[in-house]
Amino acid sequence: MDVSIVIPVYNEEESIPELSEWIEKVCTEARYKFEIIFVDDGSSDSSWKIISTLSAQKKFIKGLRFRRNYGKAAALYTGFAEATGETVITMDSDLQDSPDEIPELVRMIREDGFDLVSGWKKKRYDPFVKRFTSKIYNGTARFFSGIKLHDFNCGLKAYRNDVVKSIEVFGEMHRYIPILAKEAGFRKIGEKVVEHRARKYGVTKYGLDRFMKGYLDLLTIGFITRFGKSPMHLFGALGTMMFIIGFVMAGYLGVRKIIFVNQQLRAPLVTESPYFYIALTVMIIGTILFLTGFLAELVNRNSTIRNNYLIKDKVNI
Ligand code: UDP
Ligand code: MG
Repeated sequence: MDVSIVIPVYNEEESIPELSEWIEKVCTEARYKFEIIFVDDGSSDSSWKIISTLSAQKKFIKGLRFRRNYGKAAALYTGFAEATGETVITMDSDLQDSPDEIPELVRMIREDGFDLVSGWKKKRYDPFVKRFTSKIYNGTARFFSGIKLHDFNCGLKAYRNDVVKSIEVFGEMHRYIPILAKEAGFRKIGEKVVEHRARKYGVTKYGLDRFMKGYLDLLTIGFITRFGKSPMHLFGALGTMMFIIGFVMAGYLGVRKIIFVNQQLRAPLVTESPYFYIALTVMIIGTILFLTGFLAELVNRNSTIRNNYLIKDKVNI
């Protein structure tokens, strides 16, 4: 199989027939052996009926269906697991991404040796708020990850097959797949300007909460990429630092008290000084941070994906 096209679908009944016809046309012209994998993310319209009817007519159309709406990331992850093509393409099902981009994306993976090529919707047909916040996220994501992409969350992307098998996209992390890929050791990440179109049918599946969630996920990613493997390096350092500060403060108060008493001066109560309370608080916070670090390390030990996907090639094994 040359190309697998993975398409998450959530209530997109009007677009599916048009989209699959268009993809068929492009892929047939390019002479690919290809498959289209529709992942129905718990649609409540007739999306699944349409997918199953189409798949009965054309054997390159495959479908998976979730029991309920799990989200785009889960849909992509499940589609990835089924993808057999050397190159895997993802695209949205709402006709906002153009299948005409597929051949060039495939060429970049095959011939230019990219692990991942992300689309860049340079000219976007989206509401102003979305374009604006998207700029901020992309800037921040670039800064944290060091990946020079303009449009991390473009639905249209191309991957080498082993990339999609090595990353676990969950929650709403589909926004930051390039960062996950880089984390997994795939460093050759490219970009291609792609045509973006206005939504033809249906409505967007995300509300305003996407902005808050996107921002929180970005923080998570920033944290995980830096300290995910060894959280103690962060929490332990902070905790120790705070504990030492508190300890020195308390120590100072204690020593002062002893000196005063020794010289038979009237010693103020340790609890009279505001530093006593500050010292207490700082030591408590330090201890909490430290324990958090230990707990995080324990959680890490139980993670099933801890040492997966490390190996790239093997000989004589
Ligand atoms: N989608 C999905 N599950 C969801 C939400 C969206 O599979 O819970 C799909 C949706 O059908 C579309 C793609 O993800 O193919 C992008 O969604 P949408 O077009 O609503 O997002 P936008 O273009 O507004 O960012
Ligand atoms: Mg869309």
